[in-house]
Amino acid sequence: MATATEQTHCDRCQAPLAHQAAYCEKCGERTRRARRLVRLAIRVEILFVVVVAILVLGFAYVYYVQQP
Ligand SMILES: [Zn+2]
Repeated sequence: MATATEQTHCDRCQAPLAHQAAYCEKCGERTRRARRLVRLAIRVEILFVVVVAILVLGFAYVYYVQQP
């Protein structure tokens, strides 16, 4: 993943941001870094749901196959 340069000012209101801030203190706009983290979190969550679904389906299939 490309490392963007540290965002120092809010995209919306141009207020200076604290170092590694997730939100603008003035207008509440999420910083680019926070948006990236949210996207990453959503991706991890989708991956987790898919893995759990595969496991459940796998166990259900094994159970179904092993029926006498
Ligand atoms: Zn702002």
